[in-house]
Amino acid sequence: MLSTADALATLLGAATPVALAGRGTETLPTLDALNRVLTADVVSPLDVPPMHTSAMDGYAVCVADLAQGSRRLPVSQRIPAGHAPQPLAAGTAARIFTGATVPPGADAVVMQEQTETADGDVTFLHTPKAGEWITAQGADIHKGSVILPAGTRLTPQALGLAASVGCATLDVARRLKVAVFFTGDELTMPGEPLRPGAIYNSNRFTLSGLLRNLGCEVTDYGIVPDRLDATRATLREAANGHDLILTCGGVSVGEEDHVRPAVEAEGRLAMWQIAMKPGKPLAFGAVRRSEVQRQTQTQPQTQANADEAFFIGLPGNPVSSFVTFLLFVRPFVLRLAGATHVSPRALSLRADFTQAKGDRRNEFLRARVNPAGGLDLFPNQSSAVLTSTVWGDGLIDNPPHHPISAGETVRFIPFTELLY
Ligand code: AMP
Ligand code: MG
Repeated sequence: MLSTADALATLLGAATPVALAGRGTETLPTLDALNRVLTADVVSPLDVPPMHTSAMDGYAVCVADLAQGSRRLPVSQRIPAGHAPQPLAAGTAARIFTGATVPPGADAVVMQEQTETADGDVTFLHTPKAGEWITAQGADIHKGSVILPAGTRLTPQALGLAASVGCATLDVARRLKVAVFFTGDELTMPGEPLRPGAIYNSNRFTLSGLLRNLGCEVTDYGIVPDRLDATRATLREAANGHDLILTCGGVSVGEEDHVRPAVEAEGRLAMWQIAMKPGKPLAFGAVRRSEVQRQTQTQPQTQANADEAFFIGLPGNPVSSFVTFLLFVRPFVLRLAGATHVSPRALSLRADFTQAKGDRRNEFLRARVNPAGGLDLFPNQSSAVLTSTVWGDGLIDNPPHHPISAGETVRFIPFTELLY
């Protein structure tokens, strides 16, 4: 059996970014680039702020004028934000507002709460130090510095930072095209009556939501019958025009599990037994694109690999497919998009429960943070119990053969690090 770390390393090693060597890149308006991955460094063409600005509503002064004992100065100009000031006349103060340019000759701002005004003069109740309440030019960003390196996933605050240096557009990787389908004759869609022996296709909703959270363009082929010919036909169709084919269920070795032989016939497959719980079986491989498909591709230069689409087969159990997606598919998809950071950041938190027996596999336990800052465990950790994933707010990454005692510090990966 493979360790989770080895399985992840193999997956990431195979994930060639779609935007390598200038292919698969698009230029988007900065407002539309949320969650995309940058394909080029963003270099600032200017200092931010571009000039010395006041951080307060108050009066701009030359410290030396007040150091000489005078506490009362005439007000020589008024500087609102967005208006260019005159140089500060010696022995005067300038009325100034937050964000306004500090006039040449002034070296401090006194906030208005520490002043009194009368007859066009201002009296200072405070002696400022040089630089007080002035945000220096370039205090945030220096002209020429890299503010966002290639490989950054664009958060709302990253878009704000790019906009603060005047970037109207950004170069980003195109959206990944992912095909999904679900195997199992027992699967029924919500809205349909439930036949005897049937269950609802919950994984379709979970996986399509997970893919959309990552910004993928999803083609959903729905439920594919448990038959070899149907599975092969869907794979062939999905290989064209998609970077990745993701399936759910049917990757075990039972007679009704057709995904494995179908991928072997249409491409290549490695079946992995990963020493993890939940999860265990995971299939990774590729599906060939036919000659005709390759010739008729409208944009062959934007395919990560012109000859084949990646394939990942997830187990059917709802918690297993959810957890294996978070731990393997998410970093794989992000790396295909060119993201540098694909590993979730974990926290060290106290276990407020005891689990007397360790498992021989690496367990990913559904847990939630309690008001005391410790972790509670969902009582039923079965891979079929989807309730645990909604109740919990993250996964405890528990190493093999490791019992957990109350009070012990464990590695906790919050869902906020795994879902987006
Ligand atoms: P499989 O991996 O096909 O052997 O399925 C393992 C278990 O997961 C079985 O109990 C299936 O009924 C269940 N299962 C498979 N696919 C889904 C799905 N899309 N939604 C909910 N449960 C599923
Ligand atoms: Mg099945």
